[in-house]
Amino acid sequence: MQSESKSKSEQPESKTNKVLVGMMLLSNALHTAADGLAVGAAFSKSAGDGLSTSLAVLFHEIPHAVGREMLLLRK
Ligand SMILES: [Zn+2]
Repeated sequence: MQSESKSKSEQPESKTNKVLVGMMLLSNALHTAADGLAVGAAFSKSAGDGLSTSLAVLFHEIPHAVGREMLLLRK
């Protein structure tokens, strides 16, 4: 009886996790595409702009990746 109620209580969390993972995959894909467009546009202007934009993208990915890992590892 107790295990039945436990499995029912875990079911919504599992669905929430699937929705969270789907949202994270979609948002990460859009984010990465936007980063690529920014780097491509900067390199099309000049190599210096491309390098500085690449560094900016590289460094803003660090807190982004840390936040994503914290969400995935939470529990
Ligand atoms: Zn980014």
